[in-house]
Amino acid sequence: MTSPVWHPYSHLKTQTPSPKVVGGDGPRFTLDTGESLLDATCSWWCMIHGYRHPRLIEAIQRQADELCHVMLGGLTHEPADRLARELVRVTPEGLNHVFFSDSGSVGMEVAMKMAVQYHYLRGKPAKHRMLTLMKAYHGDTAGCMAVCDPEEGMHSLFAGFLPQHHFAPAPTAGFDATREEVQADLDALRGVLEAHHEEIGALLMEPLLQAAGGLNMTSPHYLRGARELCDEFDILLIFDEVATGFGRTGRMFAANHADVTPDIMVLSKGLTGGYLGHAATLATDRVHDAFIGDSALHAFMHGPTFMGNPLACRVALESLAVFEEDDYLGRIEALNGVLREELVDDEALRAHPDVADVRALGATAVIEVHDADSLRGAADFARTQGVWLRAFGRWLYTMPAYITPHDDMRRITGAMKGWFLSRER
Ligand SMILES: *Cc1c(COP(=O)(O)O)cnc(C)c1O
Repeated sequence: MTSPVWHPYSHLKTQTPSPKVVGGDGPRFTLDTGESLLDATCSWWCMIHGYRHPRLIEAIQRQADELCHVMLGGLTHEPADRLARELVRVTPEGLNHVFFSDSGSVGMEVAMKMAVQYHYLRGKPAKHRMLTLMKAYHGDTAGCMAVCDPEEGMHSLFAGFLPQHHFAPAPTAGFDATREEVQADLDALRGVLEAHHEEIGALLMEPLLQAAGGLNMTSPHYLRGARELCDEFDILLIFDEVATGFGRTGRMFAANHADVTPDIMVLSKGLTGGYLGHAATLATDRVHDAFIGDSALHAFMHGPTFMGNPLACRVALESLAVFEEDDYLGRIEALNGVLREELVDDEALRAHPDVADVRALGATAVIEVHDADSLRGAADFARTQGVWLRAFGRWLYTMPAYITPHDDMRRITGAMKGWFLSRER
C-alpha cells in the first residue's frame, strides 16, 4: 500500500517511493536498505552538526526529564531566558529583544507584524506594506508567500489570495563587488522607496545569500546602502537570516560581513542545529520601545503555542556552545577552501557548455546551469556516488554540515562535478 504521507513539492503522479531513513551519524544518514548517503544539503540546511551529535542528544534528554513544555504566555523558564540572553550576545550589537516562535516562516510573519504594528503605534498606519526583492524566499505561509519572488517563486498560483507588496530588483553585484559596482542596485532600491515610502513599513532581505530563490550571492555594500536608505525613508530593515544565520556565509551572521544592525532579524534553521523546530525574531530597543505605552494596543499581538519550547531552547543553547567551542567558523573557512578548489577554480567545470556559473560563499557552493533540464537525473547519479543531493530549478548546490570531513566534502563536490564531467554517467 502506498503511504498516506503527502510529501512537500512532490509531483504526485510521477513520484517514486521515497527512500526510508532509519538513522544517521555525522554527515551521513542511513536507509532501511543499509545504504548510507552523505547529506550534501544537511536536511534543508539545518543539520549543521550532522546527525546524532552526542551533546545535542544529551541536552534534549536532560531537558525532557525536567520539563518538556510550558506556555510562554504569562510564564517563563530558564532555557528561554538563557537562550534569549545568548542570542542577544552573539547577534549584531543593538538587537536586545527576542520573540520566539516555532518555524522560519512564522518567525518572518512575526517580523512583518512587528513592523506594521510599530508604525501603527507611532501614528503611521499607512506604512503597512513591505518592500521585498525579486529572487526572495521568505517561507511558505500566506504572509511569507506574498513577499517571495512572484514570478520565479513557487507560489505564483496563489497570487489572487495574497496581499500586494512592493518589489525591487534582485541585487546583481556579487559578493566581491566594489561600492561603485553596487550603486546601480542601490539606485533601483531608492527608486521604489522614493515612489512608495509612505506606505512601506519595512524592507526585507536575505542578506548576502538569496537562498531558495537561486543561491544569489550579493555584496556587503548592498547591506550598508540598504541600511542608509531605510534610515532616510523611515523604514525598518528586516534581515531574514533563517538560512544565512549560524555560519552559512562564513561569519556567524551575514550581517557581520557588513557591520550592519538590522532593526529586526529572524533566525531558525541552524538555531537548534536542526534537532527541533524553533525560531527567534530579534528586535532593537527602537522597535521594542515603540510597544511601550498606555493604550490596550501597546502589546504585540502574536503568540504561537510552542514559542520558547524548553526542549528547543535547551538544544539551541547546546548547539551554540558546540559552535563556539569547536571553532565552527574555522571549519567553515576550511570547507570554503575545498569548495573553491574543487568547484569554483575548476576550469573544465566552468567551461562545460551546460554550466552558466560556479560560485561559493562560506559553506555554500552552487553550479548554476543554463537550462534546468540539464540537471534531470543529477540526484540519481549522485546517489550512485553515495551522495544525497537535491537540485532545484537551475541550481545544483551543496550546503553541508560544518563537521563534514574534507574527504567527504570532496566526495560531494566530486558527485556534483561528475554529473557534468564524467563519461560514465
Ligand atoms: C527556510 C527559510 C524560511 C522558512 O523557514 P521554515 O522553517 O521552513 O518555515 C524563511 N526564510 C528563509 C531565508 C529560508 O531559507
